[in-house]
Amino acid sequence: MAARAGAWTTFEARMQEVEDLSDVLSVIGWDEQVMCPPSGRAARGQQTATLATLVHERVVDPAYGEAIAELSANGEDLDDAQRAMVHLARHHRDRAVRVPGDLVRALAEQGARCNVVWEQARRDRDFSAWLPELEPMLRLKTQQAEALADGGDLYDALLEGFEPGMTVAQLDPLLAGLRAELVPFVQAIFERPAPDASFLVGPYDRDAQRVFTERVVRDFGFDFDAGRQDVSTHPFCGGPGLGDVRLTTRYYDSLEPGALFSSMHEAGHGLYEQGLPARFARTTVARAPSLGLHESQSRFWENVIGRSHAFWARYLPAAKETFGGALATVDLDTFVRGVNKVERTPIRVDADEATYNLHVLVRYELEREMLSGAVAVRDLPEAWNARYTDYLGYTPKHDSEGCMQDVHWSWGELGYFSTYTLGNLYAAAIAERMAGDLDIDAHVAAGEFGPILGWLRERIHDRGSLTRGRELMEEVTGRPLGHEAYMAYMRGKYGALYGVE
Ligand code: ZN
Repeated sequence: MAARAGAWTTFEARMQEVEDLSDVLSVIGWDEQVMCPPSGRAARGQQTATLATLVHERVVDPAYGEAIAELSANGEDLDDAQRAMVHLARHHRDRAVRVPGDLVRALAEQGARCNVVWEQARRDRDFSAWLPELEPMLRLKTQQAEALADGGDLYDALLEGFEPGMTVAQLDPLLAGLRAELVPFVQAIFERPAPDASFLVGPYDRDAQRVFTERVVRDFGFDFDAGRQDVSTHPFCGGPGLGDVRLTTRYYDSLEPGALFSSMHEAGHGLYEQGLPARFARTTVARAPSLGLHESQSRFWENVIGRSHAFWARYLPAAKETFGGALATVDLDTFVRGVNKVERTPIRVDADEATYNLHVLVRYELEREMLSGAVAVRDLPEAWNARYTDYLGYTPKHDSEGCMQDVHWSWGELGYFSTYTLGNLYAAAIAERMAGDLDIDAHVAAGEFGPILGWLRERIHDRGSLTRGRELMEEVTGRPLGHEAYMAYMRGKYGALYGVE
């Protein structure tokens, strides 16, 4: 039986409205991080909470639910894309109806408050100042997770919002297998002589960094007529997407950490956003199906391409011309070893490719323990430092380089960190599969990124959310999810750089 006439019209109008409002939230979120003066932050928190509540009301409205139910039951007249739109809207709405509107508002307001306090507390290295805002944030998140979980696992309930279909039952063995191989591998690297990376310290002229960075991002294929790059404290890729993708970066005097690699990373996200299917604009499928998949794109461009020998064979001469100074006498091999230096460092966002997943593991385990009540928020510093000592052989000197370093928990983003590691695993598996079709190094060394971007566009970007993330990855890479491709990539690359197996 065909769906009741009008169900699609009702559904489509509401879906477009929700997508538009969500895009507005993205724009004011970008504005808050990039443009908003400090004295406007409190009001912005209220505006965001009001808009988030409005979106929630529009999603949980019974009329939308009836149209979705009608189209789900009698949708044989719909095409595949329309069916996927209905399916995603249903998934989104089923989650939304479980969370009361006043909790949605409380989460948004507490997020804004907790974030402001965190910024100052982090500057002051004062966990005790953050604690009174973080504790209620965790209580609200636990309430939300309980509402979503319906008796199931609390972490799963939050993860489902970022990585649909992924569960702790799948992640635990995956991450345990990764940890078992990665910890001794990183240890073996630490026992080798550290490469010279002193030339990265600079000082490098910030205007020159901007010019060079924008050139690289443009060469990758980022369209500055459909996006822009600005400065923020924490680099991110935001904005509504498609024709309006907002990258941010931040400049230091050093080259690394610095703007260059973080811009390559955000540009990887931005290339994905610009490549989403424009024919499905204002629908639920013109989005990435999962954060892990989104992160695979940023990791691919930053690490697989941007830290490769082939890339710097092409770009080091231009970098020398742009920056001169300390870079003038550095040869290609030294440069590549330097930008792939593996270090025991406390800060995740500045971590190298080899240790990065160990930083993520600490957060994944602590989030699960906070949600289960095994670790109290007030005991976070101690639990954090113990795990860093164990996994990375580094004990944070204070909480600002320990458990206060990330923005996520202030915003209530629990369940998010594991998607970073999924992104790393996916990126390596994508590169492995791509290498069967393209001579990646030859294209990169020639500065030809079009075939590489085209490969990603056709197989991943243009698919939007028509397929779930994990299924899409298995289809693209021809592999089940695992850590094998990633470890093979790491052993290949760092074996050559460090002489480890
Ligand atoms: Zn990212």
